[in-house]
Amino acid sequence: MAQERVLIIEDSSETQQLLAELVLEPNGYRAIAALDGAEGVRLAIDEQPDLIILDMKLPKLDGLEVLQALRQRDINIPVIFTTVHESPELVVQAFRLGARDYVMKPFGPDEMLEAIQRVFSAGKLIEERDQLTQQLLEANQQLERQLQELNAIYTIGRSVTSVLDLNRVLNRVVEAAVYVAGAEEGLLLLLDSDKEELYLRAAKNMDEKVARNLRVLVDDSIAGRAIQSNRPVLVTGENAKIVTGYLVKSLLYLPLQVPERGVIGVLGVINRQSEHSFSEKDIFLLSALADYTAIAIENARLFESAEVERAKLETVLRQTQDAIIIVDENNNILLCNTAAHAVLGLDGTPALHKAVTDDIPNQTLRGMLAQVQQTGRVVHTEVPLDDGRTFNAQLTPIKGVGQVLVMQDITHLKELDRIKSEFVANVSHDLRTPLTSIQGYVELLPHVGPVNEQQQEFIQYVHDSMHIITELIDSLLDIDRVEAGFDLEMLPYDLVQVIDDAVQNFRPQADAKNQELDWQPLSKLPLVQCNPNRLRQAIDNLLSNAIKYTQEGGQIAVSVVDGEGHVVVSVADNGIGIPIAQQPYIFDKFYRVESEETIGIVGSGLGLAIVKTVIEKHNGRVWVESKPGEGSVFSFVLPMLEAHDC
Ligand code: ADP
Repeated sequence: MAQERVLIIEDSSETQQLLAELVLEPNGYRAIAALDGAEGVRLAIDEQPDLIILDMKLPKLDGLEVLQALRQRDINIPVIFTTVHESPELVVQAFRLGARDYVMKPFGPDEMLEAIQRVFSAGKLIEERDQLTQQLLEANQQLERQLQELNAIYTIGRSVTSVLDLNRVLNRVVEAAVYVAGAEEGLLLLLDSDKEELYLRAAKNMDEKVARNLRVLVDDSIAGRAIQSNRPVLVTGENAKIVTGYLVKSLLYLPLQVPERGVIGVLGVINRQSEHSFSEKDIFLLSALADYTAIAIENARLFESAEVERAKLETVLRQTQDAIIIVDENNNILLCNTAAHAVLGLDGTPALHKAVTDDIPNQTLRGMLAQVQQTGRVVHTEVPLDDGRTFNAQLTPIKGVGQVLVMQDITHLKELDRIKSEFVANVSHDLRTPLTSIQGYVELLPHVGPVNEQQQEFIQYVHDSMHIITELIDSLLDIDRVEAGFDLEMLPYDLVQVIDDAVQNFRPQADAKNQELDWQPLSKLPLVQCNPNRLRQAIDNLLSNAIKYTQEGGQIAVSVVDGEGHVVVSVADNGIGIPIAQQPYIFDKFYRVESEETIGIVGSGLGLAIVKTVIEKHNGRVWVESKPGEGSVFSFVLPMLEAHDC
């Protein structure tokens, strides 16, 4: 049964009675009555009824005045008014003042009851709507808050995994944890290197004095429990203690776990005053934060160790005695260490990321850079400097980086080499005279008396050995002469002619081994500035080696390529080849490759040394490309004479 109270403001006691006895009471409403407008307003204020039935024509205050008075006092009790005249202005005015419904007089009980029920049910609907609106608002607020929390976690996650400044990251994490959990304080503890204690790494809103000295034992702390169990630890509804004298009402610790390193610390939130205790939802949200934090710490650690290694490497590179220049793939300088700086006599620091060619004046180095860029292969060269020093330079292409140039000062080695060469030359020279006389006497022996067959055989051995020694001495003297620059008058000469003569000279030797000797001379080739005899000697040595180190029936090809401003001559064979490890040394004096394939092949180890000396004296370079079992290609490059130089 309804218990609503209805205030009847009606000057006719008959109508009052009718309403109370026939409409309200039988339907369970309680009636309160006022006979005039003023009393009606007073009762409405005092009694706060659920509904007012208001006659429009009243003594003291009429119906409209009552409505106004209620409105002024912010009283929102639904009103049904009754009137005898259906005047549209009156009805509109009454509705404007807040009336909900009206009934024309005279009315029957049913008519009024219907109006009452309509108003109440409309009121209920409004109430329900208001309630629903309120609930919706609350749900919305909650969703918004959750969204903000997720957003905070997402933002932290993004920034945490990309920022490498650990201090910033950890402070941000703790701040976010406090915000997300609606906590008073937050902290992040990390395990020390012995894994026995936890020390404070970041904090939010914590007592500064406590924070400064906060260290707890893993074996004897709540945080330690989270570490040891590797699970969140939630303490609520008790006065827990995180350190002496620091009592908290509720706290939540989450372990920070890094793959392969295990648990490295804890992230915690604390309430000291607030009764609000942390929930499963907080554990869920803060776990995400804890995971991000662990990633961030690990990233920062890896970055730091990479940085330390990089810095060490850079220091080594910068301070090493060897001159080092690193350029990128566009020939811009990435690193030029102090030694390189000094070696190249550069003014000021060479601008990093500037084209190397703008800063490095040495022509040989520039040539090397160009060559490596063209061929993509390592280049070794001796680089003579204007101040008389000589450097051994190695330029290596490195994929994804560019080129690395390393130069060592070999001036003292060159000097030793010069002294040695001088010594060898002197000895060779001194040996030559007695050797010539021995050779003369050996040749005379058969003429001064009869020699038996065995003596003749021995004389032949002596003769052959003398020949080898003479050749060796000649080669040594040759190197010495070429190195010293004697015997090296240069003239413009047709290189094709020199090669052609050499090939014709060696053809019988190649034929004797059934080797194919291919040579396709170019019809027109500009001249080179050379000493034709020495150049011929170099080509002879290459051809002789090709024949010597290629099996019977093999193939040898000589070619000339006319480049821009230079010419490249190559002698290729499909012979025994040279192991990669030995290739750097074969141009050294007396160096011979000792292997099964070379057993029984006679040589002095001076042929290629002569080639190198001769070619370098012609401002050229010689190199080899070879694979054991497949063959070798010896090439040298010489500058060509411009037409007007001839
Ligand atoms: P050698 O008098 O021993 O031939 P060289 O100075 O001419 O001395 O050559 C040095 C070494 O290089 C040789 O002993 C040989 O092992 C290797 N070599 C030179 N040319 C060739 C080639 N065409 N094929 C294979 N190996 C070669």
